[in-house]
Amino acid sequence: MLFSDITPELRLKTQFNHLIQVQQATLDKLTDAVAVFGPDARLKLHNEAFERFWGVSPDQLARTPDFDGVVELCVPRLHDRQFWRDLKGRITDPDPGARAPVVGEVATAERRIVAYQSRPLPDGATLISFADVTDTRRLEGALSDREVALVAAERLKREFVASVSYELRTPLTTIVGYSELLERDAKSLSPRAREHVAAVRSAATHLARSIDNVLTMAEIDAGEMVLDIEDVDVGALIGAVSLSGSLIAWAKLDGVIKKPLRFKGQQAFNAVVMLATVAIGGYIVFVVASGAVPLVAMPTLIYLFFGFALFFGILMTLPIGGADMPVVISIYNAATGLAVGLEGFVLQNPALMIAGMVVGAAGTLLTLLMAKAMNRSVGNVIFTNFGAATKHKQGDIKGSLKPVEAGDAGIFMRYAAKVIIVPGYGLAVAQGQQKLYEFVKLLQAAGVEVKFAIHPVAGRMPGQMDVLLAEAGVPYDLIFQLEDINDDFADTDVALVIGANDVVNPAARDDKSSPIFGMPILNVDKAKKVYVVKRGEGKGYAGIVNALFYADNCEMVYGDAQAVLVKMIEAVRGLGLSAAA
Ligand code: NAP
Repeated sequence: MLFSDITPELRLKTQFNHLIQVQQATLDKLTDAVAVFGPDARLKLHNEAFERFWGVSPDQLARTPDFDGVVELCVPRLHDRQFWRDLKGRITDPDPGARAPVVGEVATAERRIVAYQSRPLPDGATLISFADVTDTRRLEGALSDREVALVAAERLKREFVASVSYELRTPLTTIVGYSELLERDAKSLSPRAREHVAAVRSAATHLARSIDNVLTMAEIDAGEMVLDIEDVDVGALIGAVSLSGSLIAWAKLDGVIKKPLRFKGQQAFNAVVMLATVAIGGYIVFVVASGAVPLVAMPTLIYLFFGFALFFGILMTLPIGGADMPVVISIYNAATGLAVGLEGFVLQNPALMIAGMVVGAAGTLLTLLMAKAMNRSVGNVIFTNFGAATKHKQGDIKGSLKPVEAGDAGIFMRYAAKVIIVPGYGLAVAQGQQKLYEFVKLLQAAGVEVKFAIHPVAGRMPGQMDVLLAEAGVPYDLIFQLEDINDDFADTDVALVIGANDVVNPAARDDKSSPIFGMPILNVDKAKKVYVVKRGEGKGYAGIVNALFYADNCEMVYGDAQAVLVKMIEAVRGLGLSAAA
């Protein structure tokens, strides 16, 4: 008798069976139908999903364990015998190349789509798996159909926008055109018919504008027009700063805010507010561009952005004082043009772009010219406290105020050879421009040479004096700008300063402690005689005393500019001279 210890063998067998059971349990958990065939084409292993997938029982599989038998069980669901033959070749072919892994899809008799794959295993067996991917493929098909439909819808939308634009605008333009023609030929129409035509034209114009707005929205919706959030952001920032800054400028010009508001560390504070505004704007751009979820709700961010931008406009303008306001107004004018131009880019609207650029460029040029006229740089105007009304003691000024009657001054000028008139803010307030020109014509008729000298920042608006004189009909060849006439004062008999103050203050030229020191002025003090027309001892815009009024060659004609001019005209006419027409 032979005895041998078979314990290791039994242990190995148990381990092997255990492993097989684990494998089987794992396979059974899979949703894909899996079967493993040996190189002899016999079924070695399969899972429950395989039985369910092909509708076969474990017994049927046990009875026909070779590949052909299994295929016969599966053929009622998948008729394609060539497919099965190819698969068998992959299982039984000894050539490793022929048994390379393969994946594919095949249709069943019930028109379901089956994804299959065969994969060689290290022991020479082959794993085959099947999965029903019909629903996935249908979903993919539906999604791709939807994509195609969306593209077609976009195209239709674009065509609609283009054709509606044409179809609507053309008849409206015709209606507006014909109603304008009818209005022009108004004599042949009854008053009632005229009203009707005007109403038709106005309604058609409004409708055309509304259609433009609707089309703009439709274009944005159809992707024809893309809102560039960076341009929107920059435009909104400039626009908001200009808006609140202009309101403060208005309040200052109107006297609602009387003094510049300054506090310690103001520039640092302004810089912080500016940086915060830019940071919020930048964050909005980032959120929109990246699609990230914002830390704060988007509407709150937008409110914060505009709030900070408006606040910055106020802060920037509050400390700017006195004589610098015209430059600031001009800067805001240029900035508004820039904002409009940027919005033109955003909305792809050439009219807005061009208008904005023209306003922006013209405003920038005017700003630079005004700053030059005041002997300042633009940065210096905005970021320093120039223009502050400092306490300038009256005791510093020598001489006295010497009042004179309007009539006497008028007669003196009638006998002068050369007179230069310097108009200022007070003339505009008194609306004395017509009377002034009437007086000038009287002087001219008497053979007096009369010229007007215009300071670039006289009045309260750039170019205000030019407009005022043009309104009165003063010929352009009598009007001279500062740099063209300043040398003539020394050779002039009388300088008539009418409602002007800061622009003729010699302190800007001579007194380093004056807040307007450095600003070019009209050298009226160099004339042989100076008459200053003003109501009393009111100061000019910069709020400082004017030494010119106390000078030996200067006399004060007190009164409202228009009333004074009326008296001067009466006095000169009283001499028996008639005005040249
Ligand atoms: P101004 O220095 O403001 O002086 C105007 C003078 O007119 C005052 O002294 C006032 O004295 C007198 N006045 C007021 N009403 C009058 C009336 N009804 N009849 C007669 N006189 C009258 O004016 P300016 O010399 O034209 O200088 C302009 C100033 O405004 C500059 O400081 C400039 O920087 C500033 N500014 C200019 C602009 C601009 O764009 N041009 C804009 C903003 C500010 P009484 O009260 O005694 O009558």
